[in-house]
Amino acid sequence: MVDYGKPLPQVRRETRGFWEGCKRHELLIQRCEDCGTYRHYPRPMCACCGSWNVEWAKATGKGRVYSYIVTHQLFHPAFFDDVPYAVVIVELEEGVRMVSNIVDCGPDEVYIGMPVEVVFDDVTEEVTLPRFRSSSQVGRPSP
Ligand code: ZN
Repeated sequence: MVDYGKPLPQVRRETRGFWEGCKRHELLIQRCEDCGTYRHYPRPMCACCGSWNVEWAKATGKGRVYSYIVTHQLFHPAFFDDVPYAVVIVELEEGVRMVSNIVDCGPDEVYIGMPVEVVFDDVTEEVTLPRFRSSSQVGRPSP
């Protein structure tokens, strides 16, 4: 495994289940045990009913690009070789949105509504990042 060299997520109590799922190549999102509402980013209380009872649910990993930006400005030296790159907000089939990257196409090819599916990038021994690829690429090996 190549030295990743980029900032890594800080795992906290509320996010531990999400990152542990990623490590197993499962995309987990929180679901309220009382009203069934999905939520992401992970947090302790349901914004719909106020319940603190929460479970981890396995998401399909499929969704669409809800919005995106193309970053041309270098904000961190570790991303020098990456610019320009797209930062996308993916709306999952479960209705929650998550910030990520697209791995299989250039920033000029990303569009709003683009069907995507999750792939898992084992960037270190401890951390796996969820990224997305065009769902028309189903069947290709993970990058
Ligand atoms: Zn609820």
